[in-house]
Amino acid sequence: MSECWSKRDIITTEAQLGGYVTLTEEEKEGIRRCRQIMPMKITRHYAGLLERDNPDDPLRKMVIPSLAELVRYANDEEVDTHKDEAKYQPVEGIIHRYPGKVLLMYTTACFAHCRFCFRSEKVATTLDGLRLDKALDYLRSDESIRDVIFTGGDPMHGNPERLEHALAEVRSIPHVEIIRITTRAPIFAPEIFTDELVAMLSRFKPLILITSCIHPRELSDEVCSVLDRLSDAGIVLLQQGPILRGLNDDADTLRKMYEKLVQHRTIPYYATWGILSPGNRHFSLDGESARKLIRELENTTSGFCVPHLSTLDQNNNKTRTIG
Ligand code: SF4
Repeated sequence: MSECWSKRDIITTEAQLGGYVTLTEEEKEGIRRCRQIMPMKITRHYAGLLERDNPDDPLRKMVIPSLAELVRYANDEEVDTHKDEAKYQPVEGIIHRYPGKVLLMYTTACFAHCRFCFRSEKVATTLDGLRLDKALDYLRSDESIRDVIFTGGDPMHGNPERLEHALAEVRSIPHVEIIRITTRAPIFAPEIFTDELVAMLSRFKPLILITSCIHPRELSDEVCSVLDRLSDAGIVLLQQGPILRGLNDDADTLRKMYEKLVQHRTIPYYATWGILSPGNRHFSLDGESARKLIRELENTTSGFCVPHLSTLDQNNNKTRTIG
């Protein structure tokens, strides 16, 4: 099973993106000036979903750098949701914040750079060799760990054989009951989900794949077909993603997205709000607005189309999110 996705499939320059959208001067400046912080990176599949002549298109805002990312606030560090993460890192690649479950930070690489994201790679690295061995030793040594969440970056990025090896190692640990993979790969790069890749994933059941859909237009026919095939293969699909200002913060958009996900056997699990990091404040929604949106959904669609709402608890400095 070889890597079926390559640099040819990504867009990193203004000229390449110009083939898909008519860029505004502001977008061009955003692309140039954000290069040092988080360069633009978009898959060709996703670029094909962008509206050519609408700069307000939420999907454009998802992936085209904006000057708003350069704005810094005096309390950025203080409110950074993940500022205390190092405290919960017993070894490189593991975040053990809650009893029974750990995050395995498998790679820092992503198929595309979501502009709201706090984790996008500076330098792409994957946990392998000795570093993976140490992380696995930690998982083996703590018998209370029953739930391992492959995250990143995007764990589906990179060499499938390497991912298969890591999944096999984790699956062989007797006390690990559940493996989860959080990924936007079905949305950014549905073409990587060959029959071979789906079969490989299905060997590690019970396996939960957590999509992070943001907008119903991301659910293209190709994406929906991937979700159907993963579900047919016995992989449990859950949706967990943020509600973001200007991208999906209205009830109709969310309802449409969750209902379509459910049609493709992907159950809304968590929605988050207010996950802050430097440069993403323009996407941040306040708690009251987020609660209002969820209440509106509760009154207008099936209960299983409505996710739990979750955020950082500023009072006790705990994140009540990520499962
Ligand atoms: S794929 Fe996930 S980790 Fe990567 S930039 Fe998007 S939200 Fe962040």
